[in-house]
Amino acid sequence: GNIMRKNIVAGNWKMNNDLKATKKLVKKIRKSLKKSDLKDTRVIIAPTFVNLATAVKRSKKSKLEVAAQNMHQAKNGAFTGEVSAEMLRSIGVKTVILGHSERRAYFGETDELLAEKVNAALANKLEVIFCFGEELADRKAGKEEAVVESQIKNALFHLEAEAFKKIVLAYEPVWAIGTGETASPEQAQDMHAFIRKTLADKYGSDVANSVSILYGGSVKPANAKEIFSKPDVDGGLIGGAALKAEDFSAIINAF
Ligand code: PGA
Repeated sequence: GNIMRKNIVAGNWKMNNDLKATKKLVKKIRKSLKKSDLKDTRVIIAPTFVNLATAVKRSKKSKLEVAAQNMHQAKNGAFTGEVSAEMLRSIGVKTVILGHSERRAYFGETDELLAEKVNAALANKLEVIFCFGEELADRKAGKEEAVVESQIKNALFHLEAEAFKKIVLAYEPVWAIGTGETASPEQAQDMHAFIRKTLADKYGSDVANSVSILYGGSVKPANAKEIFSKPDVDGGLIGGAALKAEDFSAIINAF
């Protein structure tokens, strides 16, 4: 982490937790947040669409923030099964995760589509946590930086510098997601520094230094402290370990 930027710990619940489990987990997280002094760390959870309104209500008057895991790029209309940015705004959601590797792999989301989603989110004043990261084959071929650079350029570099303030980046190497295998703190730092340089080349160092870059992929209580201590790592996007209040709290308190 770095004092110029807010630290962020975000829990991506994926397709887990029904209504009852959502209420229970929100309650536990709120309770543990009260005990810690976290003025420099934002804490975000991303439940499924059906439980967002409940999570928003039950996070009121706490520092817990609620994000969606996805949204559709259109304003409204005949898109059966989809949810718009405006609908998320209307229930008090202020942040949306876009481009998660599972959305890319299982639902065919491309950089071009994601550029549209980013625009729709920003037009509705939603903050975006934009996910990207290379696959194992890319890293083995030494192409991880090229892949990451193209993902960021294709989906985000049409934005003006001012708009970039509403973007949080989440580097998630696909080979580390849900596998128990984490990027080493050095691998994470190297990539985050590369990302920040890429941003600086395009938008200048003021913008580059103000964007929070999160690491995601098998972050857990045992490795969070070392990863978060790297200068260009501003927090984490947490999957599996975000489903247990104790683990999630331990990770939040790793800063
Ligand atoms: P994981 O997931 O922590 O379970 O590896 C991270 C993510 O997919 O955001």
